[in-house]
Amino acid sequence: MVAETLINDYRIAMKQYDYLIVGAGLFGATFAHLATKAGKRCLVIDRRPHIGGNVYCENIEGINVHKYGAHIFHTSDREVWEFVNSIVPFNRYTNSPVAAAPDGRLYNLPFNMNTFYQMWGVRTPQQAQEKLDEQRREAVRRMHAEGVTEPRNLEEQALCLIGRDIYEKLIKHYTEKQWGRPCTELPAFIIRRLPVRLTFDNNYFNDLYQGIPESGYNRLVEGLLEGVDVQTRMDFNDIKQTWRNIADKLVYSGAIDEYFDFSLGRLDWRTVRFETETKDCPNFQGNAVVNYTDHITPFTRIIEHKHFEQFGDKVYENPRTVISREYSTEFKPGMEPYYPVNDERNNRLAESYRELAKAEEDVIFGGRLAEYKYYDMAPIIARAFKIWKNR
Ligand code: UDP
Repeated sequence: MVAETLINDYRIAMKQYDYLIVGAGLFGATFAHLATKAGKRCLVIDRRPHIGGNVYCENIEGINVHKYGAHIFHTSDREVWEFVNSIVPFNRYTNSPVAAAPDGRLYNLPFNMNTFYQMWGVRTPQQAQEKLDEQRREAVRRMHAEGVTEPRNLEEQALCLIGRDIYEKLIKHYTEKQWGRPCTELPAFIIRRLPVRLTFDNNYFNDLYQGIPESGYNRLVEGLLEGVDVQTRMDFNDIKQTWRNIADKLVYSGAIDEYFDFSLGRLDWRTVRFETETKDCPNFQGNAVVNYTDHITPFTRIIEHKHFEQFGDKVYENPRTVISREYSTEFKPGMEPYYPVNDERNNRLAESYRELAKAEEDVIFGGRLAEYKYYDMAPIIARAFKIWKNR
């Protein structure tokens, strides 16, 4: 059953709830789940017409389409893994994206022996190591010439990590398309998310556990919200002044600048526009994710959704397939915020909002939008565990 209950005005007026939870994404749903299990009464509201936040999937042609971008669950946190699997079993999907590079060739990601073989023809870890060392030495030499010892930005970090050849073919243009800024103006940590390894292992993640919920992400979120009152299409802005009439405490997972009516200024976000298309063939690109790392293709990647859940011959059981091209753009009011832009101005502004947040009584701020932090799914669940425990 869809965990959505229409709340009548009477219950709201009677201050029925211990917690009003703003946002039915993974943070809000996990918090609601834990609180409900502990006997608390929760009302979860979301202004979108559905639950799940950005992990929500839409069924098109019998395929779960990741409407707000590809979500691949990965973690080394056993508690989180067992928790999500207790709600819905996960499949064995392993993310192995392929990059379509400016030289017209395909390269395996993340950077591993397959990539190095494709890039330089090197066959052994030792040969690859020598090549990497040679390229890294060059990057370090340039930095030292400028009197710098630590990478100051994403470009310097990438050159030190992996060298110029890979930076130019697989990183620079993709990153600049995704973030809409030159790599020299982006923080170094973004590129440290990607593993570099001297084995023939195309698994994008180093984590112990990985997969997609067997019956889709909606089942996971519905499971988390079982027994919880949920009201979609309800905007917190409409009840901001009166929420204390509804609940004792507020758990807010919306954007922190919006909560404070943008009083200190607006935070920047990157957002993504999706061009989703049904193709009249069973297998369009042979992989769930193909990144376009050149600067001419306007989109960053194409997702072919069926590959998240159909493996081997099962791919051909459905004669059709659904793909989404992802266009990364600057956020404007009215759009969905996706990625925080953690540059200096925004980090400082977010910090100022966090200071304001500390003074809010009976309000808990948590999640990607409220914390202005680039979170993956598993850490956001762990974060909800922690916030619930320390409440
Ligand atoms: N990245 C890249 N080339 C790729 C894939 C990723 O340069 O083909 C860089 C890019 O800067 C990106 C970062 O690695 O922002 C992190 O990529 P990830 O796939 O983790 O981003 P997400 O899936 O969260 O969008």
